[in-house]
Amino acid sequence: AGSPVDSAADLHARTRAVLPSWLALYYDEPIEIERGEGRHVWDSAGRRYLDFFGGILTTMTEHALPAVTKAVTEQAGRILHTSTLYLNRPMVELAEEISAIASIPDPRVFLTTSGTEANDTALLLASSYRRSNQVLALRGSYHGRSFSTIGVTGNRSWSPTSLSPFQTYYVHGGNRYRSPFAGLSDGEFIAACVADLREVLDQAGGDVAAFIAEPIQGVGGFTHGPDGLLGAFAEVLRERGILWISDEVQTGWGRTGEHFWGWQAHTHGDLTPDVVTCAKGIGNGLSMGGVIARADVMNSLTANSISTFGGSPVTSAGALANLRHLLDHDLQGNAARIGPGLIDGLAALNSPIVGDVRGKGLMIGVELVRPGTGTPGEPAPELATAVLQEAKDRGLLIGKGGLHGHVLRIAPPLSLTATEAAEGLAILTAALHAVAPIGAEEEP
Ligand code: PMP
Repeated sequence: AGSPVDSAADLHARTRAVLPSWLALYYDEPIEIERGEGRHVWDSAGRRYLDFFGGILTTMTEHALPAVTKAVTEQAGRILHTSTLYLNRPMVELAEEISAIASIPDPRVFLTTSGTEANDTALLLASSYRRSNQVLALRGSYHGRSFSTIGVTGNRSWSPTSLSPFQTYYVHGGNRYRSPFAGLSDGEFIAACVADLREVLDQAGGDVAAFIAEPIQGVGGFTHGPDGLLGAFAEVLRERGILWISDEVQTGWGRTGEHFWGWQAHTHGDLTPDVVTCAKGIGNGLSMGGVIARADVMNSLTANSISTFGGSPVTSAGALANLRHLLDHDLQGNAARIGPGLIDGLAALNSPIVGDVRGKGLMIGVELVRPGTGTPGEPAPELATAVLQEAKDRGLLIGKGGLHGHVLRIAPPLSLTATEAAEGLAILTAALHAVAPIGAEEEP
């Protein structure tokens, strides 16, 4: 009982009493989101927010997309689940749709329940295909929270044990702003990273299974290297037979605007990843992930390894409706049209606490630094927390990330309108200004 505001506070207390201590929550007074529509959500106190984070990029098209609701309820009304040991029409239809847009030759699709499980599967495929447990990853990477995926996650605070089944080598390239090679031209930066990669490979001794990378690092704070970097890596990997796993959990499905997949900004000719992993946005909130791999890699597993729920009829039917909506409405094109204005608008603010604005399409990172601390500036996690709060108080939800939790993450549903983009930018500007006045010295 009690007012709705009391009930969120009460739920917070109950959350703390029953869930793990390491469960992270945004805001001193966390909100309970009760419903959504389009690009907006409402909390249990009835407050409306423009959603610039989409539940960590899980809402790809829009909240409560009617086509998804219809597909899910119709399928649930017929049968929720049986087993992937029987033929499953929604799973096959979804896999066909994904194959058609995978852009890798002769793809096979294995559906999972999460991004972690997708990456787990990709690592299993690669290590069994290559008979090796050595893996290359980017510094600052995040690939999941299972025992194997934390072993290729670059930041110890996201991977609380080092007892990984993988021997992992981390290479440079995922973060241009905080790289020892920052300041170089694109070509020089790529050459320096490739030289680093070659040196690491020489030290690894020749039987590395795979290289796994996010084209734009998500949890890492929407950081990335120049276009072409991962393709230059892939050329070296191909010489040595090492598989390229592209983790598209955050960058897939047109999120980055210019391309449907994040890896496409990096390649030319026939150079494509051997394995692509995905999750989050594919299901628009349904628990769905997937592995797309070249047939010879996917089919290299000989042991039977099914997933009880991966590709279940209900999640597959929902994801299929979601993907069809995305394609029919050219939401990738929308991300390409709306995103650059947001990036430019944020960069033009000249806020004293903004060290870097980066990203592509509707995946935009704003790195907050202590004023006057140079380039790269000192990370300012306390300012990021303050901006998140100020934005929320003004009706805008954003995320944060980065090694120190000091990067604002902006990733609205891909259907964001120009009016909503302008509204969000205005709120974010006011929030940044409230934390550290913009252009204060110019004011009378
Ligand atoms: N890979 C990337 C790039 C991610 O951002 C995440 C989730 N933040 C994962 C994998 C893990 O996905 P999930 O949380 O669905 O297991």
